[in-house]
Amino acid sequence: MKRNKVPKITLVGAGPGDPELITIKGYKALSSADVILYDALVNETLLRDFQDKKLIFVGKRKGITPLPQREINQLMVKKAMEFGHVVRLKGGDPFVFGRGFEEVQYAAAFSIPVEVVPGISSAISGPAFGGIPVTHRGFSTSFTVITATCSEGVPNGNLKKLPSTEGTIVVLMGLGCLEKIAELFQAEGKQNQPFAVVSNASLPNQKVVVGTANTIVHRVREANVKAPAIIVIGEVVKLKNSVILEEKSFVLN
Ligand code: SAH
Repeated sequence: MKRNKVPKITLVGAGPGDPELITIKGYKALSSADVILYDALVNETLLRDFQDKKLIFVGKRKGITPLPQREINQLMVKKAMEFGHVVRLKGGDPFVFGRGFEEVQYAAAFSIPVEVVPGISSAISGPAFGGIPVTHRGFSTSFTVITATCSEGVPNGNLKKLPSTEGTIVVLMGLGCLEKIAELFQAEGKQNQPFAVVSNASLPNQKVVVGTANTIVHRVREANVKAPAIIVIGEVVKLKNSVILEEKSFVLN
């Protein structure tokens, strides 16, 4: 590949959706970027401040065949060599089911320096925006974050261990498997296990649905909840509504 500029890559976590939830370091990296490669979960409102950059969308969008990971890696390196500083902007935190480290490894093979700026993951902030703490004294002393789907869309075989998992469970990419997960708890006699689903956390269209293994599927259907969504399972779900948190999501202007 042709090198025109001194290449540099910064992997930045954009946070769960509200554009103000990016870190100051992440925002500064965007300000100094020549090229920004961004995913579908990145709020385009954030990119309004960076219209002078080369903005390249590399995410999945309805009706468009997504770029395979290999091609994203190649594009990232190519742009860094052509233009200099590439910011690879990803939803949430780049290393939480974001394939971020694969991109770090790929860039390292070309000896391109890579900086990582972590982001606020939906795994912890999703429950918080739904009014649910992932830990709370007397309720939960641990939390497990799990993806319902593994690479190539195959369901994660470890889901069947969830009914015997201690503490809070947060499931990502799990909306399509909600029924299966609820059934696993029902099959273990845990019909009343508290469940919550938070979709579009931190965004104006956020929805929070609370129920049990028995009721959650019906309630989620009734509320017409759409992805992206996280599932929260555990006693901490009962804390929702124990105090009323102010709902303050960002306003488009
Ligand atoms: N790296 C991201 C996760 C990428 S996997 C992070 O740290 O947040 C994509 C999954 O993240 C979605 O299927 C959904 O389960 C979850 N997710 C991302 N943003 C979300 C949001 N605003 N609200 C609810 N879930 C979200």
